[in-house]
This record gives sequence, C-alpha cells and structure tokens, in this order.
Amino acid sequence: MFAPTPDKLRYEGKAKQIYATDDPALIVMHYKDDATAFNGVKKAQIADKGVINCRLSTYFMEMMAKAGIPSAFIEQIGPRDQLCHVVEIIPVEVVVRNVVAGSLAKRLGVPEGGRLARPLVEHFYKSDALNDPQINEDGAILMGYAAGWELAAMREYSLRVNDALRTFWDGLGVDLVDFKLEFGRQNGRVVLADEISPDGSRLWERATGRKLDKDVFRRDLGDLSETYRELYQRVFGESLGG
Ligand code: UDP
Repeated sequence: MFAPTPDKLRYEGKAKQIYATDDPALIVMHYKDDATAFNGVKKAQIADKGVINCRLSTYFMEMMAKAGIPSAFIEQIGPRDQLCHVVEIIPVEVVVRNVVAGSLAKRLGVPEGGRLARPLVEHFYKSDALNDPQINEDGAILMGYAAGWELAAMREYSLRVNDALRTFWDGLGVDLVDFKLEFGRQNGRVVLADEISPDGSRLWERATGRKLDKDVFRRDLGDLSETYRELYQRVFGESLGG
C-alpha cells in the first residue's frame, strides 16, 4: 500500500499534499486535518477533517463519473489518500450558486439567503497573492488563463455537477447553497480536479438553516469536527470509524 514519505512530497497546499508515485502520470492526493480561512490568515487543526473530506470527495467524484463527468480522481487508496491522474490545473476557479451567500452577498450589499431563479456561474482567477479576484470568461481568455472551449466545458460540467449534487443533498434535507470547483487539463481534455467537499461548499440544513460546512470555522459558529462528523453520518448512514 502507498505510504506518503517526505522524499515523495511534491507540493503542499493548505489542506492537501501531493505525492509522486512510481508512475509519472499519477499522483497521490493526501488530505490533511488543517483548516484555513481568509487566504490562510486563520488556521486550525480539525480532528479527522482529512479523513472525512477524502471519503466524501471520493463519493462525489464517483457520483460524477457515473454522471459522465470526467475527473482526475482514480480511486481512494487509504483513509486520507486518493490516487489521481496528473493534470495541469487551469487557474480559473468556478463557483456555482443556488442561493445568495458569502462574497456575492458582500459584493452586492444584499442579505444572504435569497434563492436565485437559476444557478449563477462565477469565475475567479486562482491566485493566493491576489486573493483570488473575480474574473469573467472574456478576461480569462484574453489573459491566457483558459481557452474559450475549456471555459465552455467547465461551465457545462459545473452545471451538471450542481444538478447531481443538489439532488443528492436535497434528499438529505440539506440545501446546496454554493460550491467551488477546479478543473485541469489531461490528455488534451478538461477534467474535474481537486476535491468536492464541505470545505468548498455551503450546505444549509433546510429545516433549521444551520450551517453544515466550513463557514462554521470561518465564522466561529461551533465545532467544525463535530459538524463534519454529522455530515459523514448523514451521507454514509454510519458514524466515522463505526
Ligand atoms: N470557496 C472555496 N475556496 C475559495 C473561495 C471560495 O472553496 O478560495 C467556496 C466557498 O466555500 C463557497 C463558494 O466557494 O462554498 C463561494 O465562496 P464565496 O465566493 O462566497 O467566497 P467566501 O465567502 O467563501 O470568501
């Protein structure tokens, strides 16, 4: 079985590490327990977050594969490790919104919670140094961040991911407010990359409005580890480790 060793570490991000494998076309994505917010200004260790996000992201990437959406994900090979194709990350993050929240509410000076008549697709230039500024598709093309056909594929896949995820969370009594996706280039095609997890989503319990995502940490609303355990229980019908 794969064991992440320091000599194989190729990249360390805020929530994950990337390890090389014996095959240059494959990497291992290792999920850490680190949580960060506000571009790394706020940091904490959240017990078992890596295990929970790895399992949830595996579940969702497998769901997307069944829906015909290609991704870099191949298989989960350990409690916090996924085997993935090497991709060239496209430096444009896609956010899909069903309900007004977060930076959209702030930018437009409107309250959170308003339901949008149809999903809103937004783009952000992936740059820690610039704090991920918003960009539109024309800007991304003209700056050379992505080709027009790539952005078209990203939009189509993002809306299909939204449909599948929204239906799924709906069935569990949870509203999918918004989420962020990343994409990569692999063999000349666009594939989903990174993760699909509550770290990059907003999930509100329908009956109570309670937040079941990383906003619990960002906004000091409670114990994120407990919240993620509860989500795990809802999705898999059993408690973590149980
Ligand atoms: N998001 C993310 N990484 C980022 C920025 C946003 O995963 O760097 C997610 C966030 O969790 C939310 C959605 O994208 O589900 C929309 O975030 P928003 O633009 O409202 O920004 P935020 O309020 O999180 O700063």
